[in-house]
Amino acid sequence: MSATEGLTTREPARVELAVVVPVFNEAENIPTLLARLTPVLERAVSSHEIIFVDDGSRDNTMEVLRALHAADPRVTAVSLSRNFGKEIAIAAGLDNADGEAVVIMDADLQHPPEIIEAFVEKWREGYRNVYGQRIARDTDRLLRRVFSRRFYRLFAAMGETSLPEGAGDFRLLDRVAVLSLRAMGERARFSKGLYAWIGFKSIGVPFNVAARATGDSKFSYRKLTRFALDGLMSFTTMPLMVWTYVGTAVSFFALLMAARFLLVTFIYGIDVPGFATIIVSVMFLGGVQLLSLGVLGEYIGRIFAEVKRRPLYLVGERIGLEAEAVADPAPRTHSRRV
Ligand code: UDP
Ligand code: MG
Repeated sequence: MSATEGLTTREPARVELAVVVPVFNEAENIPTLLARLTPVLERAVSSHEIIFVDDGSRDNTMEVLRALHAADPRVTAVSLSRNFGKEIAIAAGLDNADGEAVVIMDADLQHPPEIIEAFVEKWREGYRNVYGQRIARDTDRLLRRVFSRRFYRLFAAMGETSLPEGAGDFRLLDRVAVLSLRAMGERARFSKGLYAWIGFKSIGVPFNVAARATGDSKFSYRKLTRFALDGLMSFTTMPLMVWTYVGTAVSFFALLMAARFLLVTFIYGIDVPGFATIIVSVMFLGGVQLLSLGVLGEYIGRIFAEVKRRPLYLVGERIGLEAEAVADPAPRTHSRRV
């Protein structure tokens, strides 16, 4: 069954626009964000809801959200049972978002809420996948900028899916696009790749990334490295295939060397030195083999995670949201998700 099948028979969605905001220890930023976001939404659309996905925060995020929901029922929340990571928090948000369109944004005010008006305009023109395109990355740490540039180059060189320049999670997705994303139950989630993979009529809206309102980035270099590996490995099998070529090249080289040694021995007789060459080549080949095993391991680990079919996330608490069948802590299967 395709992800978009049965759309026409669905009853109308609850609100025109749902905004999904993953939050991890952002208690201080949430009220500021709402104060800026709500007027924008009231201007831009006829009805809206804002779904905060608490990704296992350890601060008082949930108390803040409870108070905000009491003041404005359009503010809702779903709290995950622990920290599952931003990608999974976004998936949980999409599962609970019941809008004609859904906007995904960060809570730290790096994504200016005012741009949503431009998103909605493009959506009304018929675009289903409207992404914010960051003009510059100078709010990021230098090392992170360098690594992310390398990553995108590598992704472009290896992957079959091309990512638009500067596009991230800040975007508007039409209901059809949201349903398509919901239909993808993969655990190693690389949302940026998935947004590009689903296709649909897409367009970028440039925006300036602001500095983080308060607090620090929730991404350590370790988390970013895992994320980059997830991204590459869920969109290309090139790292698996490359060993065929490496192996061929090394074997060919070894044959050439064998021929050379044979000739030299016939002409000059047996010659003992060469320890250094032996040690270096043994270590080099050992390294290459371990590396290729490591790559296999990375893929097998991901296959293992997929075949276990554990739920993508577990919900601890909902505020102002009905427990939807779709977000039940049960294995996600394609057919029941659409
Ligand atoms: N976030 C999350 N779970 C995590 C890490 C981050 O839900 O494990 C949220 C975070 O609260 C914020 C958004 O994802 O709303 C972006 O995070 P951050 O600003 O730290 O990332 P950066 O801007 O450095 O990419
Ligand atoms: Mg940020």
